[in-house]
Amino acid sequence: MNVMDIFETMEYGPAPESPAPALQWIKERQPFGLFINNQWVKPASAQYIDSINPSNGKPLAQVAAANSADVDAAVAAARAAFESWGKTPGHVRARYMYAIARHIQKHSRLLAVLESMDNGKSIRETRDLDIPLVARHFYYHAGWAQLMSSELPGYEPVGVVGQIIPWNFPLLMLAWKIAPALAMGNTVVLKPARYTSLTALKFAEIMQEVGLPAGVVNILTGEAFQVGEALVRHPDINKIAFTGSTDVGRSIRRATAGSGKKLSLELGGKSPFIVFDDADLDSVVEGVVDAIWFNQGQVCCAGSRLLVQEDIADSLTSKLRARMEKLRLGDPLDKAVDMGAIVSPGQLEEIQRLVSQGVEEGAEMWQPSWACPTEGYFFPPTLFTNVAPATTIAQVEIFGPVLVAMTFRTPTEAVALANNTRYGLAASVWSENINLALDVAPKLKAGSVWVNCTNMFDASSGFGGYRESGFGREGGKEGLYEYVRPAWENQSLMKAAAHANGAVSAGEKAVEGTQSIVSGEDDEQANGYAAWQLYSDKGFTATLPSIDRTPKMFIKGKQVRPDSGYSRDIYDSQHRVIGQVGEGNRKDIRNAVEAAHAASGWAAGATHNRAQILYYMAENLAIREEEFAHRIVQQSGRPYADAVSEVQTTISRLFSYAAWADKYEGVVHRPPLRGVVLAMNEPIGVIGMACPDEYPMLGFISLVAPAIAMGNTVVAIPSQRSPLSATDCYQVFETSDLPDGVVNIVTGERDPLCQVLADHDDVDAMWYFGSAEGEEYLGALWGVSNPDILVNRPVEAVYRVRVHY
Ligand code: NDP
Repeated sequence: MNVMDIFETMEYGPAPESPAPALQWIKERQPFGLFINNQWVKPASAQYIDSINPSNGKPLAQVAAANSADVDAAVAAARAAFESWGKTPGHVRARYMYAIARHIQKHSRLLAVLESMDNGKSIRETRDLDIPLVARHFYYHAGWAQLMSSELPGYEPVGVVGQIIPWNFPLLMLAWKIAPALAMGNTVVLKPARYTSLTALKFAEIMQEVGLPAGVVNILTGEAFQVGEALVRHPDINKIAFTGSTDVGRSIRRATAGSGKKLSLELGGKSPFIVFDDADLDSVVEGVVDAIWFNQGQVCCAGSRLLVQEDIADSLTSKLRARMEKLRLGDPLDKAVDMGAIVSPGQLEEIQRLVSQGVEEGAEMWQPSWACPTEGYFFPPTLFTNVAPATTIAQVEIFGPVLVAMTFRTPTEAVALANNTRYGLAASVWSENINLALDVAPKLKAGSVWVNCTNMFDASSGFGGYRESGFGREGGKEGLYEYVRPAWENQSLMKAAAHANGAVSAGEKAVEGTQSIVSGEDDEQANGYAAWQLYSDKGFTATLPSIDRTPKMFIKGKQVRPDSGYSRDIYDSQHRVIGQVGEGNRKDIRNAVEAAHAASGWAAGATHNRAQILYYMAENLAIREEEFAHRIVQQSGRPYADAVSEVQTTISRLFSYAAWADKYEGVVHRPPLRGVVLAMNEPIGVIGMACPDEYPMLGFISLVAPAIAMGNTVVAIPSQRSPLSATDCYQVFETSDLPDGVVNIVTGERDPLCQVLADHDDVDAMWYFGSAEGEEYLGALWGVSNPDILVNRPVEAVYRVRVHY
């Protein structure tokens, strides 16, 4: 037997994921209640519905069937919570959302197994795609909560939002809806689909775990006509966000018309998957697998229409058939399974009905030779060829693993065929010719067009459709606008109401209040003031322990002794020695620059990862808040409350730059010439920095954090007078997974060290806070040459823009 034979005959062994922890979790809680005002309550109807496991047709759990009385209670709770949540500083909301993301990761396996059992999708998908993306959405939107006051000035939350989600990505759709809503200060009443409520209920538990204020998120399980319709018609709901079928979307639009409710609809699709004859066919085959057999084809943007250039149609379909034969369908909890079960018997019947209709209408159907499991609701991957563009299966969303293939001859014909649909959600184009792909993509009437890939989702990129696929975007900055409105709208409404009530002055007073929130007192300030109050009450006296350690320098991720072997004394405000730091020299600076250069891989890493590390730094700093505050008091003699305020502002600032890390990707331009321009930001490189003496901790982090957020690496000379706050930070860096060499700290006399840095050929930019002479030196040295001097420049000047065509 040779290797080829082994590959041909090698069978997969079973790789089952245990359902035991999920079953235990269900057993301990069912029948499940409704989640209103952070409490589990019994449904007013006293009715429960079964949630079925689609892979065996057996009941999995009993969930509450809410009715309009429960909707009233949940909306009242959300309204009461909105009064304070809508005014909570962005930084505080960001912290809650960050905690939600962390807790989702902590419970990721339970969530993945529950989702797989409740929906029928494979554990491979829930574990590797759904749940990680859910966490990503909360991380990403924690960033927008932090940045709302500066990035969306003049906007305020909409209010109480009713959210209705489908069964195909239960927890992911919840995250798409809840994360932006909370980030922008709204409160939520969410209805999961009746087939798939369990992960939403686990999510409710997470809300309790993280201590989210009561009423901010409310979850009502139950039937469409009881809960969904009551939500849509409720007079105290300000916005409806819906994902589901086009028919229901249409009825919701009718019901909300004229009510003043804001509305976003993410509906169905019949997305084209266009393959030109120069495409890499093996990649195309895997692309098709992702496009239509991912989640059993129950995906709103599934590439369900395969449009192939005529001359390669036969070879592509034969490759596809070979691949379909090898797809593995079965127990969704088997880790080696590609396809799981269809969500419900009704959905399965609908797929069977449309497939039979396709055969009757004359198309040629092909399915693999293997049989589906007889228990549970399974349907095999199916390919239709010889399909006429006007037939039912070419026009109607089947929402199952059914691909219909058609051919075209020219790019113009491909575009016409692709656009021959009432939908406009997504499309993908496959060609090795970038000119052709970029020519065709903008001509397709779809909200997202993927080139040589498909089903690419991320929290940072808006997703949504037009035509009968709905309107509004989810994800990205564009998605935030679905959950805010201009402050003046509210002011006009309030003024109108006040006039109507004859209570003009009270109304105007309320308007003033609104303005002061919206015009955005800085979150950091608001946060700082809270800390002042908190700690001044404690009557702290600055009795300090003696210092028994010498902070070292921090180079290449290691604590190192100074090359000189000398230390310098550091004094408190009474001129008493409180410790020593290493006396850095030329050699230390060179080592640090070399380390910073070697860490250039930091720039190439995922922006999400950079954000994570900055959040982690904030988290680790928060744990040691008191210790860092003491250190500031010790060095400066400032009041303790003031020092706490500095530490808290530093934490908030880390959140801000973590938030920015994945939001400065660049922009897309549409020049008068053909094509699009992607303008991408890139880091400068190695940045040297001399930090200010005032606010030794805040000053240090305010220079370092934005630089590394944008992918730069850093050699920092901390405050000469008060360096201990910065040197204490290396323990935070070490415990926050910051790669070696990204931040290097050299202590000592500022100006001589700065001169070495400035003279170094491998330093690309300098931040300088120091003397007029020092600034002059740098100006003379660099004034007309290449490197950037960031003296007196805004902190955001730590990136350059480069345009890529
Ligand atoms: P629906 O559109 O009926 O359901 C989606 C959500 O809306 C569910 O939570 C549902 O509740 C709720 N709902 C249904 N009717 C109303 C109403 N009148 N008012 C308020 N809420 C309502 O989708 P289905 O589950 O019935 O699936 C049918 C078809 O819809 C699929 O075959 C597919 O074509 C399409 N679909 C599209 C999706 C997409 O992502 N774009 C997702 C799911 C389905 P309940 O679960 O209690 O019925």
